[in-house]
Amino acid sequence: MVTLDSFLSRGEAVSALICDVRSGRVSHAMALTGMAGVGKRTLARLLACAFLCTGQGEKPCLACRGCRRALNGTHPDLLTPSAGEKERSIKVDHLREIIHALSMHAVEGGNRVVLLENAQRMTPQAQNALLKSLEEPDADTRFILTASGDTGLLPTVRSRCRVVRVPAWPREDIQKELMARGADAAQARELSVLCGGSLGMALSMREDASFLQVRTLCESTFFSLRSARDVPGASARLRDKREDAAEILSVVEQRVREYLLFAMGAGPQPLPSGETGCHESWLHASPRALENVLSAVIECGRYRASNVSWQAIAEKLLYIISEEIILWQP
Ligand SMILES: [Zn+2]
Repeated sequence: MVTLDSFLSRGEAVSALICDVRSGRVSHAMALTGMAGVGKRTLARLLACAFLCTGQGEKPCLACRGCRRALNGTHPDLLTPSAGEKERSIKVDHLREIIHALSMHAVEGGNRVVLLENAQRMTPQAQNALLKSLEEPDADTRFILTASGDTGLLPTVRSRCRVVRVPAWPREDIQKELMARGADAAQARELSVLCGGSLGMALSMREDASFLQVRTLCESTFFSLRSARDVPGASARLRDKREDAAEILSVVEQRVREYLLFAMGAGPQPLPSGETGCHESWLHASPRALENVLSAVIECGRYRASNVSWQAIAEKLLYIISEEIILWQP
């Protein structure tokens, strides 16, 4: 089970926040940022529990009535917007109940938590409606925001929050977590590389058998080219995969980005993701060559939206890769 302690190893900013919450030194508003799947929502829920916990000892105990109701979302002093998961934006209307509740005392007389997940989806009007509460907080109310990416929150809102970036999960932690959920070692290792530090992504990729097929296909086509002579064969294998085009391009893009970051000295060495690929050639490619390939992949995404045939798009990309990624000979 994931607890607040599980987050103590997730970088200084996160562990400092947890210590401050536990010792009561925390500011009244905090914003957890970071990419999707790194655990912002889980951390936010656990912090909410810590504020609403009525148990003895270290908070949250996750066993008392306060914790249990905070976890299942039925605590009367845990305020969340009424916008559904699927709604694209959180509007002022969705915040009315919260703003009304904030004008009154906490129902149970203890702490009160306003939990705003995906706060980047709040319209500017909704954010402005919140500002007054953020500017003049009452002593027992805490605001916990989560936001994907670094944009989306108004500077006026950000400046009133303690902004804590939740870093990507370390690969080893993702592997451990996947294996605890039944993945074998090889699969756990592969997914931990592909998911880019997002446990959520790793879990959903694991459930998706077609994703793994797409991965294998990319490996045996785009990443196995030894020369332009291999292009027609690879192109033929991609011919019927028009329906998977978006996923294929996203897998290729992510993998190329990994090699590029490594070539620029800005990322860890990518692991080989299959037996067949020309991994060494990619590892020895220059940043310039990898940038050219990356631009080509992104351009393919744009063509896909037009009427150009998938096969033509795939073949063009294959040729560019065969020109840029020179077969490496030790
Ligand atoms: Zn508790």
